[in-house]
Amino acid sequence: MSATLIPEAAPAPRRSRQARVVWGSRVVTLGGDAPVRVQSMTNTDTVDAVGTAIQVKELAIAGSELVRITVNTPEAAEAVPYIREQLDRMGIDVPLVGDFHYNGHRLLTEHPAMAQALSKYRINPGNVGKGEKKDRQFAQMIEAAVKYDKVVRIGVNWGSLDQELLAQFMDENARRAQPWGAKPVMYQALVESALTSAAYATELGMNPDNIIISCKVSGVQDLISVYRELARRSDYALHLGLTEAGMGTKGTVASSVALGILAQEGIGDTIRVSLTPQPGEPRTQEVVVALEILQALGLRHFNPSVTACPGCGRTTSTTFQELAKQIDDFLRLQMPVWRSKYPGVEEMKVAVMGCIVNGPGESKHADIGISLPGTGEAPAAPVFIDGQKALTLRGDNIAQEFHALVESYIEKRFGATASA
Ligand code: SF4
Repeated sequence: MSATLIPEAAPAPRRSRQARVVWGSRVVTLGGDAPVRVQSMTNTDTVDAVGTAIQVKELAIAGSELVRITVNTPEAAEAVPYIREQLDRMGIDVPLVGDFHYNGHRLLTEHPAMAQALSKYRINPGNVGKGEKKDRQFAQMIEAAVKYDKVVRIGVNWGSLDQELLAQFMDENARRAQPWGAKPVMYQALVESALTSAAYATELGMNPDNIIISCKVSGVQDLISVYRELARRSDYALHLGLTEAGMGTKGTVASSVALGILAQEGIGDTIRVSLTPQPGEPRTQEVVVALEILQALGLRHFNPSVTACPGCGRTTSTTFQELAKQIDDFLRLQMPVWRSKYPGVEEMKVAVMGCIVNGPGESKHADIGISLPGTGEAPAAPVFIDGQKALTLRGDNIAQEFHALVESYIEKRFGATASA
């Protein structure tokens, strides 16, 4: 799926297979004509069932449509059904994904309640075992997925790429008349690891619709190359993520560029932003960034958008910055309730502008906008509603009055009586 305003400029849409990730009556479709889904992952110890359930709830409320948890030990496996139970009690029906490495075959075989409580399994073909054990242990995990009718993600990561496979590709490359560089060989090994594992899974009886593929790397250009190749060579639904994206601005920008370019090309059916939380930053920040990427591309709408100018020498007060932030915070805070109370409000556009230069024009393009007075301008703030100048605010309470106008606009336009 991709968004473009000029049809001729649209890339050829990639239509993947569609999987259904289910928990109870909640069905999250992935791929096909479904919207790009947002995923996240907890960073709690899974053995701490209450702490993990609370973080899953926070991620789900922030907008994560699937939440992955580490299942790394028998104790963690035992905790999974309790986490699920806690979530169900809290009314959180977000599907849980189990992340398995090294011992997933044993855990999925020996802990049936865990295998059942999860809605999707992430299998890393580079971490399922070595030598003759590899296929057998991979098969055990796929057999569990088939038995419990679960979706799997075959998730390759360049940090844990199957070294035997990589060595084989390196040897083949050395025999080429003109050998490739190391990076293209590694890309090839990543893609082959994912696709041959998926083919083996289907041989074992896995419905190909229920297979999601990912090949995560930490370089933006590397990720784009690998996913273009995956998209070219398969119709599996693809999970996108720039692994180990990093912290703060760097991680946010790198993820946004990589995921944005691919999503615009119609590549990617689910995304995760792998941000390292900064001290004191909530885990939910990775969900906030993922939602913003999809919303900025126009692929999905989650929250009303606030357009604000950057300010310049024409506006030396911070009034408009404060108003823009207040409005943005207010809209985000209300969304959990408004989403069901005011259907369609997530597509609303609000403009908060700093002066007369672009203020009235930008405000007219918004559903509701205000143009604050810049330095030296008359102390008046025209408000535009649905493209028309509706009134002018003056005095010391412009912020509060505009706030009330936004609320009243939402009630009138999106409230129960709006279409009556
Ligand atoms: S709208 Fe006015 S204050 Fe805002 S950036 Fe443009 S010129 Fe500066």
